[in-house]
Amino acid sequence: MHLPAAVRTCHRVAIRLTRSHAGKPHPAIASLRAALLWLLAWLATVAVSAACAQPVELSASRVGTLLGQELRYLEDPDGRLDLAAVRARADSMRPSEQAVPNFGYTRTTYWFHVRLVNRDPLVTRWLLEAQYPQLDDVSFYALRGDTVVTASRAGRLFPFGQRQVEHRNLIYPLELAEGEAVDIYLRVHTQSSLQLPLLLSTPAALFTRDLKVQLALGLLYGVLVAMLVFNLLAYVQIRHRSYLHYMQFTGSYMFCQLAINGLAFQYLWPDAPRWAATALPVFVCMSLVGMLNFSRSFLDLAHCLPRTDRLMRAYALALLLLALAALVTPYRIAITLATVNAFFVSLGVFAVAVVAVSRGLKQARYFMLAWAAPLVGIGLYPLKTFGLLPSNVLTEYGLQIGSAVEALLLSAALLDRMKILKEQNERIEADARRDLEQRVAQRTEELNGALRELSDANAVLQQMNVLDGLTGVKNRKHFDERLDSELKSQARTGRPLSLLLIDIDHFKSVNDTHGHLAGDACLRAVAGAIAASLFRPGDEVSRYGGEEFAVVLPETPAPGAAALAERIRSAVEQLQLHWEQGERIPLTVSIGVAQAKPGQGAVPLIATADAQLYRAKHEGRNCVRTASGEAGGVVVPLPR
Ligand code: GH3
Ligand code: MG
Ligand code: MG
Repeated sequence: MHLPAAVRTCHRVAIRLTRSHAGKPHPAIASLRAALLWLLAWLATVAVSAACAQPVELSASRVGTLLGQELRYLEDPDGRLDLAAVRARADSMRPSEQAVPNFGYTRTTYWFHVRLVNRDPLVTRWLLEAQYPQLDDVSFYALRGDTVVTASRAGRLFPFGQRQVEHRNLIYPLELAEGEAVDIYLRVHTQSSLQLPLLLSTPAALFTRDLKVQLALGLLYGVLVAMLVFNLLAYVQIRHRSYLHYMQFTGSYMFCQLAINGLAFQYLWPDAPRWAATALPVFVCMSLVGMLNFSRSFLDLAHCLPRTDRLMRAYALALLLLALAALVTPYRIAITLATVNAFFVSLGVFAVAVVAVSRGLKQARYFMLAWAAPLVGIGLYPLKTFGLLPSNVLTEYGLQIGSAVEALLLSAALLDRMKILKEQNERIEADARRDLEQRVAQRTEELNGALRELSDANAVLQQMNVLDGLTGVKNRKHFDERLDSELKSQARTGRPLSLLLIDIDHFKSVNDTHGHLAGDACLRAVAGAIAASLFRPGDEVSRYGGEEFAVVLPETPAPGAAALAERIRSAVEQLQLHWEQGERIPLTVSIGVAQAKPGQGAVPLIATADAQLYRAKHEGRNCVRTASGEAGGVVVPLPR
C-alpha cells in the first residue's frame, strides 16, 4: 500500500472512532485515538516527503552526475496518461534506485519526474542530457509551479532537425536563476531497451566532455575507415575473398556503432526517422553475416572443419534473412533476436578460432586474439541492455574500444595470413624449381644419351659409308678422297707418297671353277692378307674395283713401297684357302707401284701405277713392278 493511501485510511478510522464515542471517551478509546492521530501525523509527514521528493540542488559539484537515483517514475502501461494526469498521481510515483533507470525491453510507457533547484549563483544555464540515442519517443516538460515553461518531443521517431539541441543525445537546456526551482517530467516510450541515463551538465562541461568523446569516436571511426580502405586495396591486389568479408564485417559493424551512438541519425539520415528506428538490427545481422563469412574464408574452414563450415554458412544465410526481416519486424523483436544472435555468433566464432588454433592452424592465432577483444564488449552489451549489468564506461564503450582493437588485430591477422601464404608459395616455388631442375637434368641426361646413341649410329653410318660391303676394307669413294687429301698434303710438305694397285691374277677362272661365292671368299681373304701386311697407321687398303685393291702409303718412297708390295704379293701367294673342304685355291696378285711426283694429281698417279700393274701382268703375273722400271722380287727388307 502506498503511503498517501495509508494516511487516508488512518484518517477515516480516526474520524469514525471520534464520532462513535462522542462525549466522554473510554480511556482505552482515548489512548487508541491518540495513537491513531500520532500515526496519522507521522504517515502524513512521510507521505508528503515521499510525494514531493527532495529537490535536486544544482551546484558545480553536481555537474556530470547521473540523476537516476533522484528520479521518480510512474508506469503507464497503456500510454494514455497526459502531463496533468501524471501530476495528479504524483503521490504514486516510485523512486528509481538505479543511477541509470533500466527497464529492458518493455511496452510500457514510463514517466519520470525530478525537481531541480538552482543553488549556484554563477551558473544559470543547465543542461539535462539523455545519454541513450536509441530512445524512440521522449516528451520533455519543464514546469515552474503549475506553468509549463518548456515542452518538446523528440527521439528516433522524429526528424533530427526538430531537436532543441542538434546533438546525438537528447539535450534539454534550462535557464534557472539562483534559488529558482523547476519540475521536470519526461515521458519515454520506446521499442528499444528502455533506459534513461540522465546526466546533469552545463554547456561548458558538455563542450569539454564532447571534445574528448568526439576525438575518441573520431579515432575509432578513423581506424575502421582506414582498415576498410586498406583491405579494399588488399582485395584489389590479392583477390582473396576474406578481404571482402572483412570489409562486410567491419563496414556493417561500423554502421552498428554509428547507429548505437546516434551519429548515424545525426549525420547520415537525419530526415529518415523511420529508418533510424529500424537500422540497428539490420546492421547487427549484416555484421554477424560478415563475421561468419570472414571466419569461414579466413580460417579456410571448408578444408579444415568442413562440417562447421556448412553449419556457419547456413547460420549466415539465416541471419541474412533475419536482416531482411528486421526491415519489417517490430524493432523490439528484431533487436532482441539480433542481440541474442550477436552473443551466440561471437561465442561460436571464438570457439571455432580456439579449435583452429588447437589444430595447429597458424593463421588462427591473431584471429583468436582479435575476437577476444570485442567479445568482451559484445558479451557485455546485451547483458547491459537486458538490465543484467549496470551501465558504465566499460559496458557502454567496451564494444567500441574492443572493435577498434579487433579491426587492427584482424588486419594484422590478414597480414599474417599473407605472410604464411607467401612462405607457402616460396616453399612451393622452391620445390617446383628443384623438381624442374631435376627433371631438366634428367631430360638433359636422356638427351645426351640419345645424342650419344645418335652420334654412335652416325659414326657407324659414316663407317658404313666408307667401307666396302664385301671385304670390309675401305671403299672406292673413300680411296678417292684419301688419295686426294694425301696428294695435297704431299704437295705441301714435299714428303714422298706411293700408291700400290693390286689385281688378282686369273680371277675369272676362280669364279668359273669354284663359283662366285668362292670368288667372294677369295676377295675377302686377299683383302685380309693385304690389310695384315700393313703396319704403319697411315697405310690403308681400299677396294678399287672388282678384284682390284689400292694401297695408299704416305711418307713412303717407291723403293719402300715396292718392298711392301712384295710382302703383300708373298702373303697372298701363301694363303691357304680351301673352298668347301675342297682342294686349295691358289691365289696370286700382280702389283703396280708408283711414287707421286711433287704436285701430281690423282689421275696421272693412278695411271702410272696402273701401267706398272699392266706391266706386271704382261711380264708373267705374281710379281711387282714399280714406275722406276725396277723389277719387283725381293728388293728392300721392310722394318716390321
Ligand atoms: P688377269 O690375271 O688378267 O687379271 O685375269 P682375270 O681373270 O683376273 O681377268 P679380269 O681382271 O678381266 O677379270 C676380272 C674378273 O673378276 C671378272 C669377274 O668374274 C671377277 N670379279 C670381279 N668382281 C668380282 C666380285 O666381286 N666377285 C667375284 N666372285 N668375282 C668378281
Ligand atoms: Mg682385274
Ligand atoms: Mg685379275
